[in-house]
Amino acid sequence: MDGVYIIMAKFWILRGIKNGILTTKYPVKTPTADEIPVNSIPPSPSVHTNWVEGELICPTDAIQAQSGPNIDLGKCIYCRRCADAGFIFGNDKGEMERKIALQARKIELESKKNAVEEWKKLRIFKRSFHVMMIDVGSCNACNLEVLNLSNPYYDLTRLGIFFTNSPKHADALIVVGALNSAMVQVLKRTYESMPTPKVVISIGACAISGGIFHDTEGFVSPICDIIPVDVTIPGCPPTPIQILEGLLLTVGKLEKDSFANRIEDKIAFQKKVR
Ligand code: SF4
Ligand code: SF4
Repeated sequence: MDGVYIIMAKFWILRGIKNGILTTKYPVKTPTADEIPVNSIPPSPSVHTNWVEGELICPTDAIQAQSGPNIDLGKCIYCRRCADAGFIFGNDKGEMERKIALQARKIELESKKNAVEEWKKLRIFKRSFHVMMIDVGSCNACNLEVLNLSNPYYDLTRLGIFFTNSPKHADALIVVGALNSAMVQVLKRTYESMPTPKVVISIGACAISGGIFHDTEGFVSPICDIIPVDVTIPGCPPTPIQILEGLLLTVGKLEKDSFANRIEDKIAFQKKVR
C-alpha cells in the first residue's frame, strides 16, 4: 500500500513541476484580458453617444443625461442596451486596458475625523483581514464570484485575506444582493455583532442600488441606507479580480494613488470623447 502512495506522490510532484504556478499574477502584474472579460467592461461615451436616448434605453437609470451627463456604475447591470445609443464597451486591447480600470471606489470620507479613523483601520487590516459574506437577496452570481476568490487560481489567503463565517471574527462584511424585508434585521444584527473597527463592502449593482430590482415590490433599499457602507464594488456581477482589487484597496495593500490615477484617466478619457 505504501508503494501506491509513493507512486501517487511522485505523480503529483511531477504534475506540479510540469504545470508550474497557475495562480494569478495579480496584483503584482496587471490583470490579463482573460481575467477581465469583455462583458465586465463598463460602458463609456463615444463621439456618437446620444445621452438622452441612452437615458431612455437604460433599464436601471444608470445613464443620467441631464445631471452630468454621467453613468452611475453602481446602477449599471452591463446589459449593453446603451450600445444602440452610441456607448462603447472597449473595442481594442489598449482601450480595454484603460477601461478595466477596476471600479471599486472608496466612499468619500465625510470629515477629517473620519479620515483619521480610516487611516487607523487601514493600518490594522494590513496584517490580516477576515471577511464575512452575507447574501440579502442575490441571484447567486455575485456570491459565486466572491467565493471564487478562495480557489487556487485567486488564492486569497496568499494576500492575508481570509473568509470567516462568524461576524464576531469578521473585520469586513461583504454584502451581496437586493435587500428584501426578511433580511433587514438579519443584516443589522450581523453588522452590530461585528467588533470595531469594521468595514462594509457592497458588491454588485443589487447591493449598491438595487440594480435591475430597484423598482420591484420586494426591494427595500440600497445597503447604505441600512448600515454604513465604506466601499462599493460595482458590477453585475463584478469579476473576482475586480472584487480582489476592492479588498486590497480596503486593506491599504494597493496604492491608492495608482488606483486614483486610473480612475482619473478614465474620467479624462470620457471628457475627451464627449
Ligand atoms: S449597460 Fe445597460 S445598465 Fe449599464 S448603462 Fe448601459 S443600458 Fe444602462
Ligand atoms: S448584481 Fe447582478 S449578478 Fe449580482 S446579485 Fe444582482 S443581479 Fe445577480
